[in-house]
Amino acid sequence: MKQIDIYSLARENIRNLAPYSTARDECQMKIGAFLDANENPIGNGYNRYPDPRQTELKSLISRIKGIPVKNMFIGNGSDEAIDLCFRVFCEPGQDNAVNIAPTYGMYKVAADINNVQMRQVPLGEDFSLPVEALLAACDDKTKLMFVCSPNNPTGNAFPVAQILTLAERFDGMLVVDEAYIDFSSERSLTGYLAEYPNLIVLQTLSKAYGMAALRLGLAFGDPRTMGMFANVKYPYNVSLAAMEKAMGLLRRDVAAEVSVIKSERIRMAEALSKLPRVRKVWPSDANFLLVEVDDARGLYNELLDAQVIVRDRSKVQGCAGCLRITVGTSAENDKVLAVIGGLKPESVVERRAAQVVRKTRETEIEVYVDLDGKGTDGIDTGLKFLDHMLDQIVHHSGIYLTVKAVGDLEVDEHHTMEDVAITLGEALKKALGDKRGIERYGFVLPMDEAQAMVLMDLGGRIEFVWDVEFKREYVGDVPTEMFKHFFRSLGAAMNCNLHISAKGDNDHHIAEGIFKAFARALKTAVRREQFSYSLPSSKGVL
Ligand code: PMP
Repeated sequence: MKQIDIYSLARENIRNLAPYSTARDECQMKIGAFLDANENPIGNGYNRYPDPRQTELKSLISRIKGIPVKNMFIGNGSDEAIDLCFRVFCEPGQDNAVNIAPTYGMYKVAADINNVQMRQVPLGEDFSLPVEALLAACDDKTKLMFVCSPNNPTGNAFPVAQILTLAERFDGMLVVDEAYIDFSSERSLTGYLAEYPNLIVLQTLSKAYGMAALRLGLAFGDPRTMGMFANVKYPYNVSLAAMEKAMGLLRRDVAAEVSVIKSERIRMAEALSKLPRVRKVWPSDANFLLVEVDDARGLYNELLDAQVIVRDRSKVQGCAGCLRITVGTSAENDKVLAVIGGLKPESVVERRAAQVVRKTRETEIEVYVDLDGKGTDGIDTGLKFLDHMLDQIVHHSGIYLTVKAVGDLEVDEHHTMEDVAITLGEALKKALGDKRGIERYGFVLPMDEAQAMVLMDLGGRIEFVWDVEFKREYVGDVPTEMFKHFFRSLGAAMNCNLHISAKGDNDHHIAEGIFKAFARALKTAVRREQFSYSLPSSKGVL
């Protein structure tokens, strides 16, 4: 255990402080008539002052983190703890502090507010911890040293052994800010509190724990340090509303959220590093990425135009050309990729729509398809039963589809059926475009008593398998033999493999089952859950 006298490091006035004390502190009564604090006695849940020691919240955090309550301080964000470090240990105008650069800006701001000189030591190559330079920057007036790990904005965590070297050799208070530790592969230093009484570890509920709005920061340290923090803080620095809400939110599965964020971090780092405007994506142990780009300010503005707000760190020492991008939801991250990838921001939700007009001597067909839309502006082919079937596609595929057809029905249904199928297939193919991001395959199992099955592969090859038998010659005004022809023409025009089988007692139901199954298969196959740069093929082309 390191030998160091914490009290002698603290300011004399703080060491000797008689802290504010409440009547409730003194009597420790839980029930009674509380006429000591000039509160409104009419209960509404919040009319009483909150527990100034945050006993319940501390014991829950103690269980979660495995750290005794006596080693814990809870503040109004970890920014409060940062400020307390100065107020407890640094004599304004006399003492000084040391930190790394670049790092979280509040250490310097808190130093300035407290009139304490901050000595900033640049990180080494590749943002490594400058252990010797940090120690060399200290003198007998250096009371605090701040090491943020994982560091903001560089994102890297420093090796525990190096931080322990600082704790060993620095004879002041070493403050290790672990705001981002839950995203890191490095260990927390909280396991070394007993060995190093000069260690203060800061954590927060604002990042991985998802409670930035509640303002709850944690400091862990020697009980003497924590005692001085408790004496100097405002008596009721954490509200009851924040404590109650946090107690509930701490019981959710934070680890699951962290793993989603970490996997998005990997996806973003990979995708970003492939984009031409990105020069370097720095490795990250945090929930953000430091990304060096061509023309950081220009890109920052482009992102702003797309309503994406990131942090421009390009003017920060060691971060020239860098933006700091927080890992967001996958949709938000997709938007970042789209903008940096040089696509219009709307292209993420760009509608996959197409209009195809086909005129022959026998028919005139107009089809409008929007794979990302819904509904119809009308289906009118002149064949009532075909209209009814195309309506099934509208309703069961969840796409937008309008079909207008005028054909030589006075001759027979053949041309109209065939040309509607071809035009619809061409429109679907055109709307699908390069097929990036789609699911590609679609299938559906038997529906209703008609037991229709449609297997679809939008991979680009054209195979048609038809295993359907009708008993009647017509369903409504459509000859049953035309259904095979319709789907063969549709599949060929769409460039897809289509396997259709159906059986049942009622030909109307069989036909309807096939159209519904086709619609469901189409719905699955064209679905584009999120913006994806990849083609759904192991070959890399479709
Ligand atoms: N430390 C670091 C390294 C941070 O980046 C931040 C917030 N950006 C904080 C502390 C502040 O956390 P809190 O919300 O707990 O005040």
